[in-house]
Amino acid sequence: MDNRIYLSSPHMGETEQTYVSKAFETNWIAPLGPNVQEFEIAIEDYLGNKKNVAALSSGTAALHLALILLGVSSGDEVLCQSMTFSASANPIVYQGATPVFVDSEHTTWNMCPDLLEEAIRDRIKKGKKPKAIIAVHLYGMPYQVEKLQAVAEKHGIPIVEDSAEALGSTYKGKMCGTFGTYAILSFNGNKIITTSGGGALVAPTLALKQRAVFLATQARDEAPHYQHSNIGYNYRLSNICAGIGRGQMEVLPERISQRRKNNSRYAEIFRNVEGVSVFTEPDGDYFSNHWLSCIQIDKNKTGFTPEKLRLALEAENIESRPLWKPMHLQPVFKDAPAYTNGISEEIFSKGLCLPSGSNLTAKDWERIKIVLGQFV
Ligand SMILES: *Cc1c(COP(=O)(O)O)cnc(C)c1O
Repeated sequence: MDNRIYLSSPHMGETEQTYVSKAFETNWIAPLGPNVQEFEIAIEDYLGNKKNVAALSSGTAALHLALILLGVSSGDEVLCQSMTFSASANPIVYQGATPVFVDSEHTTWNMCPDLLEEAIRDRIKKGKKPKAIIAVHLYGMPYQVEKLQAVAEKHGIPIVEDSAEALGSTYKGKMCGTFGTYAILSFNGNKIITTSGGGALVAPTLALKQRAVFLATQARDEAPHYQHSNIGYNYRLSNICAGIGRGQMEVLPERISQRRKNNSRYAEIFRNVEGVSVFTEPDGDYFSNHWLSCIQIDKNKTGFTPEKLRLALEAENIESRPLWKPMHLQPVFKDAPAYTNGISEEIFSKGLCLPSGSNLTAKDWERIKIVLGQFV
């Protein structure tokens, strides 16, 4: 059997090990140290727009801290994109709050601005104004930034921008990760760059970044002994992982162009296939890092289902995967309120994520093309 081709696997550059070795040589084997600071600066420089970045142990931890800093607590409601990975929604529940899910629109697959407006009005009518909105740039595709912001601002509700999949994506030339009141990034093993596990919170001010770091390092008050006035967390990124991150930031532009090339290749393969569409930007305002390349299969036109294609790829040891199953369809969230329009459910049922790593080789592509060739 040939080697497994993964959906999205880690792809190291040349300097990661140097930074990690330096951490060993200087014995900075801790959740602080020079790599952590330098990694944060590299992300801040990359994002621009005077943002303040705190490197954390995961994107999920970053979301949790964002909600804490926005004052989300027991009994509150938080609006959340339904079409996403569960980590977007779980931190709402960590805070004892209730997620209220909002369905997608067709062009970016992300939160529908009209439905968001409807949801906010209805929640207010039912007696509670939502505390925050978690909007996601799914698969690297920016959400409808201006429309969502307009709705959020009109009602005075902050946006937590889940940019876990969208580092390097832009809307009208501005970086994803700079739009929300807070934004989060992920450096999990499957993301466009990785620290093995890690994430970051993008905060609007230095003081709020410092507050996040304080909470992320067990909330120790200023005192020689251990003194606590707040509940703390152990959410800081280690200096070892941050060393990997510094090296990865150096190759990020290359990784984006490699992932985008994957998307173009799939577009070429399926160009003349009726019933298959490759997910890409609706217009020039949007620039996706194409973290994962996804297709939609209309089985009435193609005569095959996404699952049939998935199994054919699997038979050749090639990984592919259905899209994120919407949160309002998840057993764990079955009792959560949801504002739906059928779009995320339709996209989910027709969708498949194809191998999208920046490290796919020419031989990998040959194998992928042979299987896809049976379907085009
Ligand atoms: C990966 C991911 C997260 C969580 O990031 P971790 O670093 O894995 O905790 C959150 N939201 C989305 C949309 C993601 O894809």
